[in-house]
Amino acid sequence: MESIKEEIEKLKKEKRAIILAHYYVPGEVQEIADYIGDSYFLSKKARETEAEMILFAGVSFMGESAKILNPERTVLLPDAQADCPMAHMASREKIREMRGKYEDLAVVCYINSTAELKTMSDVCVTSSNAVDIVKKLPNKNIFFIPDGNLGAYVAAQVPEKNIIVNEGYCPVHREIQEEDVKNARKEHPKASVLVHPECVSEVVRTADFVGSTSEIIQYACQSEEKEFLIGTEEGVLWDLEKKCPEKAFYPVKPGQCCLDMKKVTLEKVRNALKEEKYQVSLEPETMEKARRPLDKMLELGK
Ligand code: SF4
Repeated sequence: MESIKEEIEKLKKEKRAIILAHYYVPGEVQEIADYIGDSYFLSKKARETEAEMILFAGVSFMGESAKILNPERTVLLPDAQADCPMAHMASREKIREMRGKYEDLAVVCYINSTAELKTMSDVCVTSSNAVDIVKKLPNKNIFFIPDGNLGAYVAAQVPEKNIIVNEGYCPVHREIQEEDVKNARKEHPKASVLVHPECVSEVVRTADFVGSTSEIIQYACQSEEKEFLIGTEEGVLWDLEKKCPEKAFYPVKPGQCCLDMKKVTLEKVRNALKEEKYQVSLEPETMEKARRPLDKMLELGK
C-alpha cells in the first residue's frame, strides 16, 4: 500500500502543484514541501512559481498573500480553519482615525494580516525586512499594524521616525516572558539567546540576537557557538536540528506552539490536493488593492 507521502508526491505531479511550508507547521509536513521558509521567502516563491497549483501549508493569511501575488494559480489551504489570530488585530476605524491625524502617515502592515487590512495599507513588511523598509519610506509618521511588539522593535531601530504602534500581538510569542529567559539562561549558561521580534520588548532587550525565523536559523548555522536558546515557535527547532545536527537547541520556554499552524497535517495536505480544497478565493477588488502594498514590499525589500 502506498504511504501518504507517496500519495502526496503522485498528486503533486498529477496536478502540477508545489507545496510551500512555513517553519511552524509540523516537521513531517515540512519534509514533503518544495520550499520551507518564512513569510517573505514563501511569498516570493508564490509569486515566481510556474506551477498550476500552490498548496500553502500554513495559515489563511499566507494562502491569501499567495493568491494575491499570483492570481492565475489555484491556491489551496489544507485546513480552512487554520488562521492567525493576530492577522485580525487591527481595525478599519483606527486606521482611518490615524490617517485623519497625520497628513503624511504611512500605514505599514505586517504580512501577518488579513487581505482586508492590506487593502488599507501603504506597504507590507515581514519580520526580516520591516526595519529596512521603514527606513526607506519618505514618511515621518508611521502607523504599524497589527503587531505591537514587532512595531516596538522597529521603532527602537528607527528612532528618527514617529512610529505609532497598534495593540495586536501574537499569543504564542507573547507567552515568553523575561523570567523565562532568566531561568533558561541559568539552566543552559553557555547558550546564546535568539528570539523573534514578535516577543515582548523585555524579552527582545535581553536577547543576544533578534531576528525572523530565517535569520535565527542563519545565525545559528553560521555561528561558532554550540548551544542556543530559541525564543520563537517550537516548529523552527525541526529545521535547526536538521541543518545543524552537531549543535544543541533548547526552547526558551517549552511548549510554545501555534495551534493553528499545527492544524496542518499530512492527511489534510493529501486531501487538499486530491479534492482541490480549500481554494482561496478573494474579490478582484480586494486582490487589486491588497496587491499594491505587497508589491511595494517586494520592490523595497530587494
Ligand atoms: S505563531 Fe503567532 S503570528 Fe504566527 S501564525 Fe501563529 S498566532 Fe499567528
